[in-house]
Amino acid sequence: MKNKSFLPWIVLFLVCLSSIPVILHFKGFTSARIIGVIVVISVVAALWFWKINSRKKSPRNNKVSLSVNDKHWMIENISFYKKLSKQDKVIFEDRVGIFIADVTITEIGKEKPEKETCIYVGASAVIAFWGLPYYNYGDLREVLIYPTNFDMDNSLNKRGIVNGKVHHGGLMNNTMILSLPALERGFQIDNDKHNVGVHEFAHLLDKSDGDIDGIPEYLGEEDKKLWVRLMKEAMDKINANESTIPDYGGTSEAEFFAVITTYYKECPGLLKRKNRPLFEFLDEYYNQDN
Ligand SMILES: [Zn+2]
Repeated sequence: MKNKSFLPWIVLFLVCLSSIPVILHFKGFTSARIIGVIVVISVVAALWFWKINSRKKSPRNNKVSLSVNDKHWMIENISFYKKLSKQDKVIFEDRVGIFIADVTITEIGKEKPEKETCIYVGASAVIAFWGLPYYNYGDLREVLIYPTNFDMDNSLNKRGIVNGKVHHGGLMNNTMILSLPALERGFQIDNDKHNVGVHEFAHLLDKSDGDIDGIPEYLGEEDKKLWVRLMKEAMDKINANESTIPDYGGTSEAEFFAVITTYYKECPGLLKRKNRPLFEFLDEYYNQDN
């Protein structure tokens, strides 16, 4: 609610208030009482409108507080978190708590999702968007956690080739699906450049500007041109088998962005040695909040 919508109420309140002594002076006790009642009703109505409007403007729920045990568990299981400074750890915990409160996490086959699963999903989101000035997780509303991999039509299949998916358009536009074993593996095996949670959230970062095209949000025109050139060169190298970037990154620009983001977040030192220009671009991109 903008402040100016309070103005009529304040004017009414002041007019009523200032008229009371005048009325009292002319011994109009009944009128003064009526004006007093009007003032009280106006203030109550103004507060009520403000409450309704502020609720509409901020749909965020209260963040979920992580317990000491949760934080200890994160140190053991989320190496990105473990490496952060004390100050950054607090920011990370806050963002995970906000994510878990804001986004519905549904574990198929369970009445309630496991806390660890929620933290894995929240941590994936926070890692992918870490260092950016704003984050909305591509308007994500729900993450479905499947007990196994799945097929392209989202049906469960232990041997299915899909372990994570974001939707663009259609009924499931605001939904992500992750396979639980793959999500856990992404964190348990740390330096392999693979993490399906971070990978899918990188797609959502790419989607934040309206297209999943390998060109993410928050890039100026010049940087976009540079990024497209770096991306094309790196993809050519992947497809010529001359790269340390996982092959899947050579299949499309969208996959390249998700693959290289996961690589940068998991093994920044290796990327710095293997492809300095790409590393420097990503390092600047993912440190915009400094
Ligand atoms: Zn992908």
